[in-house]
Amino acid sequence: VQRPPHETIERAERFSAGNYHPLPVVAAHAQGVWVTDAVGIRYMDMLSAYSALNAGHRHPRLIHALKEQADRLTLTSRAYHNEPFAALGERLAAYTGKPISLLMNTGAEAVETALKAVRRWAYRTKGIPFGEAEVIVCEGNFHGRTITLTSFSSTEEYKADFGPFTPGFITIPYGDAAALAQAITPRTAAFLVEPVQGEAGIRIPQAGYLKQVRELCSSHQVMFIADEIQTGFGRTGRRFACDWEQTEPDLYVLGKALGGGILPISAVAGGPETLGLFEPGSHGSTFGGNPLACAVALEALAVTEDERLAERSERLGAWLLERLQAIAHPHIREVRGRGLLIGMELAVAARPYCERLMQLGLLCKETHTHTIRFAPPLIISEEELELAPRLVEEAFRV
Ligand code: PLP
Repeated sequence: VQRPPHETIERAERFSAGNYHPLPVVAAHAQGVWVTDAVGIRYMDMLSAYSALNAGHRHPRLIHALKEQADRLTLTSRAYHNEPFAALGERLAAYTGKPISLLMNTGAEAVETALKAVRRWAYRTKGIPFGEAEVIVCEGNFHGRTITLTSFSSTEEYKADFGPFTPGFITIPYGDAAALAQAITPRTAAFLVEPVQGEAGIRIPQAGYLKQVRELCSSHQVMFIADEIQTGFGRTGRRFACDWEQTEPDLYVLGKALGGGILPISAVAGGPETLGLFEPGSHGSTFGGNPLACAVALEALAVTEDERLAERSERLGAWLLERLQAIAHPHIREVRGRGLLIGMELAVAARPYCERLMQLGLLCKETHTHTIRFAPPLIISEEELELAPRLVEEAFRV
């Protein structure tokens, strides 16, 4: 039953915790890059569920894979085997170049999994005394919302009154290889970093940073964990954002678009030196690696490659970046991006501009107060994308 939008919003606000501040749009239907609301107004989705919808809404191949699998088998738990799980493991190994993966559901769980893996490695292989392993992280990081992950957030509103926090994390400035070199000690297990910081406002490190990180980690026996949950699967114009510097981390943390924008599924991909340290009973999740999500993820990877989404993202992203950079307005500080992951940093709050863009038919969301993130589905056509800078221009015409 479709209720009037204001009624839906009112009920959502009454019956749900207030941990989000959604735009006042009630999505009723979506296809490709288009979202239609409850009264039939059409919007272009320039957020893509924080980059989970790289293949767009309801990609026909993904819906087909979902339905096929749903008719067969949805959940075994890891107590039994199933074919989609095995097939996805094999496919992820080919896609990432890493021989082993560990499947979970959400991004935050996958980051937690990577942290468990490197702590075990630190104690069992590197020989760090138990309880002393440290992981170095960056200012402005966003890795998820569990207590451990918020423990090392540098954003106060993510942390306020959620302590006591998990120890064992050292924070350094983002994009600063010298700071990493200085922070590494014999107790350092790993360096956890986003190759482009998404939630922090699309912050792109200087060229050469990831290469320097790789060298420092290799020379000091430190595990390099790349959180590619937001940047992976073509979003930045490469398979992974690390590929911009031909850099291979020890562990990839993946999520979001892996599930094709349909189901939550996340993964850590790495080698036997870390992921081989999990024996039965050491880690798990009831839904982690369920056949329904695996079948969708398998097809999502195939679509990513068949439709050359990384190449599309690079080409269309460069075009969009140039068009957005050409918009002159005293409130616009900087427009930066990599592929179809673009941030427009303002000198004022971004929210009113997002609301104005919504009224004009473009859905995007502010991040860290001052930045508008533009991240359309990577399947967007040239003609569709052309609309975006025109509407942004219009939003800044006042
Ligand atoms: N890591 C990065 C880089 C992210 O962008 C996000 C989500 O925005 C996460 C981790 C957390 O993922 P999830 O919301 O699925 O837990």
